[in-house]
Amino acid sequence: MPYDQLSDQLGPLARENPRAFGIILIENRWKAERRPYHKQKLAFVLSNSRHFALEQAGRGVAVRYLFCDSPYRAALKPVCAELGPLEVMQPAERELRVDLQPLLDSGAVKIIPHEGWLTTAEQFHASQKNKMPWRMDAFYRHVRRVTGILMNSGKPLGGKFSFDAENRRPWKHEPTAPTPPSFALTDIKSEVGELIEKHFAHHPGRLDLSTVPATLHDTEQLWDWAKRECLPWFGPYEDAMSAASRSLFHTRLSPLLNLHRLLPQRVVAEVEQLELPLASREGFIRQILGWREYVHHVHEATDGFRNSPSVEIRKAPGDGGYQRWAKKGWPVSLSDDARLDGGAAPAVLGDQTPLPPAYWGEESGLACLDHVVNAVWEEGYSHHITRLMVLANLATLLDVSPRELTDWFWAAYSDAYDWVVEPNVLGMGTFALGDFITTKPYVSGAAYLNRMSDYCSHCAFDPKTNCPITPLYWAFLARHAEKLKTNQRLALALASMRKRSATQRRHDQEIFGKVREKLIAGEKLTPALLEA
Ligand SMILES: Cc1cc2nc3c(=O)[nH]c(=O)nc-3n(C[C@H](O)[C@H](O)[C@H](O)COP(=O)(O)OP(=O)(O)OC[C@H]3O[C@@H](n4cnc5c(N)ncnc54)[C@H](O)[C@@H]3O)c2cc1C
Repeated sequence: MPYDQLSDQLGPLARENPRAFGIILIENRWKAERRPYHKQKLAFVLSNSRHFALEQAGRGVAVRYLFCDSPYRAALKPVCAELGPLEVMQPAERELRVDLQPLLDSGAVKIIPHEGWLTTAEQFHASQKNKMPWRMDAFYRHVRRVTGILMNSGKPLGGKFSFDAENRRPWKHEPTAPTPPSFALTDIKSEVGELIEKHFAHHPGRLDLSTVPATLHDTEQLWDWAKRECLPWFGPYEDAMSAASRSLFHTRLSPLLNLHRLLPQRVVAEVEQLELPLASREGFIRQILGWREYVHHVHEATDGFRNSPSVEIRKAPGDGGYQRWAKKGWPVSLSDDARLDGGAAPAVLGDQTPLPPAYWGEESGLACLDHVVNAVWEEGYSHHITRLMVLANLATLLDVSPRELTDWFWAAYSDAYDWVVEPNVLGMGTFALGDFITTKPYVSGAAYLNRMSDYCSHCAFDPKTNCPITPLYWAFLARHAEKLKTNQRLALALASMRKRSATQRRHDQEIFGKVREKLIAGEKLTPALLEA
């Protein structure tokens, strides 16, 4: 069982007599060392794996728990020879599929369908009518119709498929933002915590076991909290950001969903039945039935964006800028696997800038960026809009390498796996794929951040006068105007940019140059520094 299929409600484990059935779980140091993964992510994956093993043993399932420090197939090969062919549900991560391929080729492992997805590849392709570019909206409408979710006699409940336009309120400290639950410490979690401090102490991030959900009870606790405290307000405040609450009304469920500790089937079915405003139910279901499924299909259908002949494929996994910040290389001491590469590196808008050390915790002087980065290195989490409109926005405005940013997200977030992090960063966050899977680059100046968040009130810069994010935005549009000129959704923004005077444009470009130079050098921005 792959590390992210920890459910006995899926596949043969859900159907076979547990006392006549066995599973193999593998804890893999080689995998953990491939990237500078956040300690919190390692704690989350290892604690869930160990708790799951004990739960299954408790049901009478024969559990073989292996430890290895090389690719998964090396650990499995002798087991296949001993036990005969093994079955595995199609791994979600391409990295694992590629690793296991030789065992598939020799017949030692047989792949069976992954039952944890809500939609099929056929539904995905049918929704796009075999045309490119691909669009999430078309996919979502198609699967709403096919599944009947939030539908009535073939029509969407409430008369439309999306209530997004009504879900754009900033949060003014009312209603009170819920406090995320903390979880009981177990012997397993303590043991994993000790293991991390002993063997993975060089990994970045803060370890806090009280925020690691790992037992079935923890899962229920988080899911109950999400339904009770978050979902009633999920819709209206979906796009809001605040220094006073890291998740606002977001649910923090993605790590558990991605490990299948909590099943998306269950989440969608229960939310559909909740007595909540339709805008909140629809908004939330769209995230799971729409976005989550969509990015999975896109990743699988493009072989992780490797299928375009012009795209560069990196040889080895990137460190997301770790070395530039830490002034030492990421200590990959275990030999790498020649079968695996470092991922596709598309860059439609270029990738001239390395990821600044500010993303690893050096103070940038921009309150929005510093606040979100701090949250990420404390928790391995931040919510969607902070990922998109703070972290990816700033990186895009600076022409940061989309691949390096992807590798950073992959290391820093507890919910990151190749199938979900690559489409989100390369496709949505940075426009590295052009309009292949999203309609436009999600970039903004300071006015948007000031409207949707309260970060600016904690900042040395003023969003109305001297915040560099606004000139960065104009400079971005000016630099990429030629490539973006056919994008209808940017027509207004490009027209506004063209109306800027020559002096303003020169100033935009100067600020871009200074901000880029200072942040790459790991320096803190101040109004005086930028005015000089
Ligand atoms: C630049 C960038 C990088 C991202 N990287 C990841 C990642 O590595 N792993 C990951 O799971 N999500 C990623 N996302 C998507 C999304 O931001 C997270 O799923 C979400 O923030 C998780 O927090 P939550 O559980 O509180 O979400 P909620 O806002 O409560 O949403 C509910 C659920 O919807 C699903 N969801 C929502 N949007 C997406 C999406 N775009 N793609 C996939 N699932 C989605 C998640 O399972 C999430 O738990 C990324 C988004 C961006 C813009």
